[in-house]
Amino acid sequence: MAPQSATAQTPVTVTVIPGDGIGPEVVRAVQRVIEASGAPIVWEEQAAGASVFRQGLASGVPQATIDSIARTRVALKGPLETPVGFGEKSANVTLRKLFETFANIRPVREMPGVTTPFSGRGIDLVVVRENVEDLYAGIEHMQTPDVAQCLKIMSRAGCERIVRTAFALAVAEGRTTVHCATKANIMKLTEGLLKSVFEEVALEFPQIDAQHIIIDNAAHQLVRFPENFDVIVTTNMNGDILSDLTSGLVGGLGFAPSANLGTDVAIFEAVHGSAPKYADQDVANPTAVLLSAVMLLRHLGFFDQAVDVEQAVVVSLENGSRTKDVSGTEGSIGTQAFADAVIANLGQRSDTYPSRNYAPIKIPHITRADGRSDPGSRTKVGVDVFVETDQSPAELGAALKAIAMDSPYTLKMVSNRGTVVFPLTGAPTECIDHFRCRFVISEPAGWNQESVLSLLKKIGEKYRWNHIEKLEEIDGVPGYTKAQGEN
Ligand code: NAP
Repeated sequence: MAPQSATAQTPVTVTVIPGDGIGPEVVRAVQRVIEASGAPIVWEEQAAGASVFRQGLASGVPQATIDSIARTRVALKGPLETPVGFGEKSANVTLRKLFETFANIRPVREMPGVTTPFSGRGIDLVVVRENVEDLYAGIEHMQTPDVAQCLKIMSRAGCERIVRTAFALAVAEGRTTVHCATKANIMKLTEGLLKSVFEEVALEFPQIDAQHIIIDNAAHQLVRFPENFDVIVTTNMNGDILSDLTSGLVGGLGFAPSANLGTDVAIFEAVHGSAPKYADQDVANPTAVLLSAVMLLRHLGFFDQAVDVEQAVVVSLENGSRTKDVSGTEGSIGTQAFADAVIANLGQRSDTYPSRNYAPIKIPHITRADGRSDPGSRTKVGVDVFVETDQSPAELGAALKAIAMDSPYTLKMVSNRGTVVFPLTGAPTECIDHFRCRFVISEPAGWNQESVLSLLKKIGEKYRWNHIEKLEEIDGVPGYTKAQGEN
């Protein structure tokens, strides 16, 4: 299906989700501005979030909303509330994942009239956050009544499409540097996959300065020298945290827009949440949603109206129109009054803040099949069995060695939370009741399902096992990491 007309000024239908908390106020304010800009948008209003959870729909996203976005393929979304630490899954994440909007683009730029400790430094950067993989896949299991686990899933195709999007965006916006921020020094396979794909793809963009940076140093450097960053591509969880930090550099969440882009669907929303304490008070800053709508206008090809709205926001700020988050109660105006100021300034241009020249970004269409042309060699070399026990490492290790005696496997080590505790190390490592027991096979050709099941059965007669992981070498390289202290 082709996207809706992007260039002609024919009406385009956009799904709009007012959202929760401050959402309906800020989204309404933005709809008024967009209407006043003359952009030919027809809104199709749909629900998601708290009101839908209350009706008993566990996903928080009704079928009518899914159908609407599937039809319009573009949405403006207000923030949706998610219960913290309990209850249903996030309706935001559900929407992003349902429509495979794998790239979350979060630009921040210093705004005139918004004074921060960084004013005058010329901050103008974009965080490109992977949006559907990583810990955000939300695959969690209680391993024991006291031990929780979350799987960090990352794929080569997922890394490649987000990295290519970051480079495409840099080229489209005339930017010169792309940083890839990872924790590959610790998570060598998951975060390391993003780093290695970044290094491969970077070779195709010699005009861009491509640099890897460890994520914690990225946070540090962003606070010290934010002007040194241009585009930052990173994983889902890291990008979530880092982009809240970057929004803080330019005045807070009230100024941080975002776009969730996929090959078929685009969903535009502020980075901020529903800020429930400000709901229905007409005090919330609508700028983040306004700037998200500017991104939406560009996505639809309405470049003139995008510049008009962006410049009207800037001129309004320059003229002293500010909401409470910027200027405190003194001299601030409300959400709707700010929108009125922006409407009044449509057509004005700032002398100090030119709009960038934007070109459409071609979103890469990468599927699993694009991941590897050569499946490589795969050799099974053992199995990690995770068991629950209150025994000491010495007792557990001795028992498992005996269990493995008549099998083709040998116990190589036992670790607890990733640190070797058997063979005994002499270090006072504290243990929880969740152990990883690594068995290696002496003769790789002897690895087979029956021998694994037989080992598991024998372990199960003495211990409660939680799960297993096959140990495999891919092209001769271990597809698993060593425990801390494992030789
Ligand atoms: P939040 O709603 O973003 O609010 C955090 C703080 O940011 C507010 O207390 C306020 O700061 C400031 N703020 C945010 N938006 C603002 C605006 N437009 N104007 C002025 N100030 C603004 O984050 P939260 O309190 O952690 O989360 C609340 C709910 O939103 C949760 O249910 C969460 O799951 C959800 N959420 C949704 C999304 C989304 O829909 N994409 C994103 C994040 C969170 P001060 O207190 O300093 O005034």
